[in-house]
Parts: sequence; C-alpha cells; structure tokens
Amino acid sequence: MENVEVFASPGKGRGLKATKEVWAGDVLFAEPYFAAVVFDSLAANVCHCCFRRQPKLQRCGQCRFAQYCDRTCQRAAWEEHKQECAAIKSYGQVPNENIRLAARIMWRLDKEGGVISDLQLTTLEELEDHISDLPEDDLKDLKVDIHNFLDFWPRTSKQHTVERISHIFGVINCNGFMVSDQKGLQAVGVGLFPNLCLVNHDCWPNCTVILNNGNHSAVNTLYHTQMRIELRALGKISEGEELTVAYVDYLNTSEDRKRMLKQQYFFDCTCEHCTNKINDDLKLDGALVDDVKVPDEKVKEVTEYSIEMLKKMEKARTDANYNEVVKICRECVEKQENVLADTHIYQLKMWSTLSEVLSYLQFFEEAAFYARKMVEGYMKLYHPNNAQLGMATMRAGVTHWQAGHIEVGHGMICKAYAILLVTHGPTHPITKDLEAMRIQTEMELRMFKQNEYVYHSMREAALKNQPMKMMAEPMEEGIKSLFRKK
Ligand SMILES: [Zn+2]
Ligand SMILES: [Zn+2]
Ligand SMILES: [Zn+2]
Repeated sequence: MENVEVFASPGKGRGLKATKEVWAGDVLFAEPYFAAVVFDSLAANVCHCCFRRQPKLQRCGQCRFAQYCDRTCQRAAWEEHKQECAAIKSYGQVPNENIRLAARIMWRLDKEGGVISDLQLTTLEELEDHISDLPEDDLKDLKVDIHNFLDFWPRTSKQHTVERISHIFGVINCNGFMVSDQKGLQAVGVGLFPNLCLVNHDCWPNCTVILNNGNHSAVNTLYHTQMRIELRALGKISEGEELTVAYVDYLNTSEDRKRMLKQQYFFDCTCEHCTNKINDDLKLDGALVDDVKVPDEKVKEVTEYSIEMLKKMEKARTDANYNEVVKICRECVEKQENVLADTHIYQLKMWSTLSEVLSYLQFFEEAAFYARKMVEGYMKLYHPNNAQLGMATMRAGVTHWQAGHIEVGHGMICKAYAILLVTHGPTHPITKDLEAMRIQTEMELRMFKQNEYVYHSMREAALKNQPMKMMAEPMEEGIKSLFRKK
C-alpha cells in the first residue's frame, strides 16, 4: 500500500494513517471485496455477480436461486458460486444472507488463506468480532445462525471449530459493509472489505468511502473484479494523520450518534464534534420570529410532535402510500414553521421527504420549494464535501430543473458535480450522470436566456421523454449508515 499504513491509534486500537500528503478527491486505497452477497429480500432483483438492479435476470439452472444479468456475469461469478450452488441444492433451501456471506468467506479462506493479496493489510483473524459485547438477544440470533450454518456447511468442505465460525459471524455483524446498486441509491447487499475495517470512525471525518460497481461492458469479461470500494480524501490530509470515515450520519445530535455508535459498534465516540457537541444547538434550535427566539417550551412541544409524525411518515413511506406521506409531511411542516430553526434536523427530514415524494408525484413547483430549503439547511450543517450533501444537492437541482427553474437548477447541479468529483470520483456512474445533466442544463440555460418561449416548449418535451430517470420511485431510505444496521 502506497498511501496508507496500519498503526496503533491512541484509544482506538488499530487504525490507518496517511504515509504522504493527499488532497481532496485523492484515492487513498481501492479494495475489492473479500466476499459479498445480495440481500435475501432482493435476491431476485439484483445480479449476484455485479450487484446491479436489473428488470430481467437469468436464474442459475442448478440451484435456481442465484440470478445474473447474462452469461458473462454468470461465468464470472461461478468460481464464487459453485460451492454455494452445490450446498443449496443438497441443503434443499437457501440460508439467510448472514450464513451465505459467512460460507463464502469460509470457502475463500480455505482456498486462498486469510490474506488474498499484497494489498490486504490485515487477516480476518485479526479483526474484532465484539462477541463478548453482544446483548443477550443478539447472542441468541448468533447461535441460531451458527446452528443453521453447520447444517448448511457441506461435509465435503473443510470443517471448522464453532469458535472460528462465530468469529466470522461477529466480524460480519460489526463490519459488514452495505453494497449499493450501480447508482449508489439503494443498499442491495452486504460484503466484507478487510482494509476498510481498519479505518476508524470520526463524526467529522477526513475521508469518505464509496462503492464503485465498475464498468459493465460485455467485451470486458473481467469487469466483475472491478467492483471495489474507494477511500477518498475530503480535503488536505497531512503525512502521518489518522484516516477516518463516518459510520453514522452527521445529521443526528451528538447524543444520538454516540448512542448509535455504542449500540452497533461498541465504542464511545470521543471525536471533537461529540466532545464539544458542535452544531447540536443548530440541529435542535428554535426559530427567530421578528428577532425574538421562540420559547423553549414551544420548541420542545413541536419537536416531540415531529418525532411522532416522522414515525407515521416512515410507515406510510414503507407502505408506498405516497399521498399519505405528503399529507403527514404537509401537516407537520405547517406546525414546524416559525417554531423550529431552518437547521432543525426534524424539519430538514420532513422537507427532504416532502420534496422527494412531491417530485415523484410530479408536483414540481412545491417540491423545488422544499428541496431548496433542505439544501440550504444541509449546507449549514454538513462538511462542504459530504457525500449526502452532494446527493441532496443533485436531487434538488433535478427538481428545480423539473419545475422549470433552470438557473437555480443548473447552479445546484454544478455544485453537486463539484462535490461528487471529490466523494465519488469522475468515473463513478452517478458522477457521469451529473456531468451529462450539467451539460444539458447549461445548454438549456443558454437557450432560456435567448428565448424563454422556445426553452419552455423544449422542456415540456424533455419532461415527457424523461431523460433524467434518476428520480424514479422514492427510495425507502438513502444509505446513511456505512455498515449494515440490524
Ligand atoms: Zn451482472
Ligand atoms: Zn447455482
Ligand atoms: Zn463523534
């Protein structure tokens, strides 16, 4: 590894540090997965080789479980699938994603050993499993998984001790990385990336991690090996500085982040932002009305009301009842207005959902109004190169374009493009989409300035053809947690 090395990070165990100075957008390392599987719930919708969502997939004729884009993907995945395929056939059913991932890891360990390339900085044995930290219920689940794993694991494969198997399950539990689809919009599977496990958390990190599914091209039969994660610098990092990523979304108060980190990753965050509760005030602030702060009592009342409404809204959203989502959000934002600050996280959450769903339902004008408020709030809270900020700005830009606000729309798309060049890199499919949008909106903006009438009739036609497909159905929930939440 050229840019990074393992070191003992004070109070955090092992960590990674930079061995030379890097700048925003520099890739510190790229890493293919050790093993990865598609989620149980999406097993029929996502290619088990390249993890792309596809409307039409071809099923493996042997196990009738694995699905692939085409013969090329199927052939490329066979080496990883063949033992799983035989095991599923003889077991007579498909075990859950945890067990499938553990089995793939074990088969690979048996075949190639714990370190599969010079670039791998740690063995799997050395990774933390945190089994002794697991609460009672999780331990029970772990025992069930191990029991089923032993039933599933073929007698012809190498046999392992229960201790070793439970270590692998423990590693998956705290380090299973969410694998997203090609656009990075939805989590579709879980994988293990050993080097990434060495990167410690900071709520205000100096790096971001992004999955790049690689280029899907039939001529290149090796593309499946191109799927990788990249650790990218968010700004200047000096030689010797520890590299960090955020395991949880920054748009939570320090108290909530600390609780989430403790619960899922078993450590107490002592980062600067948690220690000094930086931005907590903004995230829970009351509004200023005519330069007078809304009384705390009122802010507290509306905050509690918002929590209830958020729960209701999430449920309606899971049920894909979008008219109900809009109804709940509208009711809530009305109560929040002039009580909560424009950086209050529960208000931001409502604006974000409302703009997304309204845009889906084609109420573009109102969607753009809330999208703009959302982006302005995000800009006051997030690191300027935060990937969530980039994605939200992109969404807001598209919404403004849809509403015919070409000038603001183009500005936002340019801004999003600048952020994604750093967080995703120029070759990521979503950055390429943004680049195409940037060029298109630039052309439209020029046209708009020359002749508004021609512009509007052209836009109508463009909306009908829907060239910007990324605003398809609202996703359940963006990917905000780095590793898989249970
Ligand atoms: Zn594929
Ligand atoms: Zn099969
Ligand atoms: Zn923290």
